[in-house]
Amino acid sequence: MKEKIKSLEIEINEGLSKVSNLSELNDLKIKYLSKSGPVSELTSGLRDLSVEEKKEYGKLITDFRNDVFAKFEDLKSKYELEELNKKLENEKVDISMPGMDIPSGSPSIVEKVIDDATDFFTSLGYDVYEGPEIELDKYNFEMLNLPKDHPARDAQDTYYLKDEEILLRSQTSPVQVRVMLDGKGETPIRMICPGKTYRREDINATHEQEFTQIEGLVIDKNISLSDLKGTFDAFVKHTFGENVEARFRPSYYPFTEPSVEMDMSCIYCDGSGCSMCKPKGWITISGGGMVHPNVLRMCGYDPDKWQGFAFGMAAERIGMLKYNMSDMRTIHENDLRETKNFDRKEVK
Ligand SMILES: [Zn+2]
Repeated sequence: MKEKIKSLEIEINEGLSKVSNLSELNDLKIKYLSKSGPVSELTSGLRDLSVEEKKEYGKLITDFRNDVFAKFEDLKSKYELEELNKKLENEKVDISMPGMDIPSGSPSIVEKVIDDATDFFTSLGYDVYEGPEIELDKYNFEMLNLPKDHPARDAQDTYYLKDEEILLRSQTSPVQVRVMLDGKGETPIRMICPGKTYRREDINATHEQEFTQIEGLVIDKNISLSDLKGTFDAFVKHTFGENVEARFRPSYYPFTEPSVEMDMSCIYCDGSGCSMCKPKGWITISGGGMVHPNVLRMCGYDPDKWQGFAFGMAAERIGMLKYNMSDMRTIHENDLRETKNFDRKEVK
């Protein structure tokens, strides 16, 4: 028995000395230390021995087996550590590598213009309203003094959805109608209603079929055109800079009387004339006037007691001027290379 243990010990030591990695060590472990392996077989050889011998060799075998297990465990730890180090070496983080450029979003030009206008008008006490984009002809036209046969309807080529009754709103004015009806002829109104509008336009650098209006309405007692002028003047100074001047020119809209085109002095040439203002020194950015008595009446306000002014402008137009863009289509194309540049191009 002693010789058996001795020769097995030599054999295992030899095997261990040739092992060079975890996988080989595992193969050797299965060969010698499995249940049917030679080390376990030593124990079964005890069966035929006397009690005295069983005691003596039993202890020898146990010590031998513990010794062999310890050797395997030592080697296992050694190779595990080696593999871990190898892995860490291969997966080392190179802190000198340049960082990745993660593209970040930014508000669109239209959002920026709306946010800025909203800040301005709410600071003057205006409320902000929204309304449905699918509207009734009644609110989009009729109650704004544009009956079915009115020639000015042609100027707003409209997307009708059902007969001539339901349409995609061609302006945000129906929101004003809804707010006036809510006011029941008794409540003063200070409101803006920024939102999308739709018209059948040929698409080009300055026209799209979908654009964003910012309209405003004030209804109160003793309101005059000079209130609109003062408001517009403060708005262009807020949006384009303190040196910008405002100017009104007579115009015509069915829903206002009198009506005005609202110009600002050219922000590119300070009014001396350039290709942007062609070469008048003024740029038209809005239209408006005093709310027509018919509109007040239809919306429940007595024109003998109440007056109001209304105005409207396209957010895209304001954005193109403010961010020095020549093509409106760029705004909706969402090309990040362009929209990122808008921050740098801001004119003030
Ligand atoms: Zn100019």
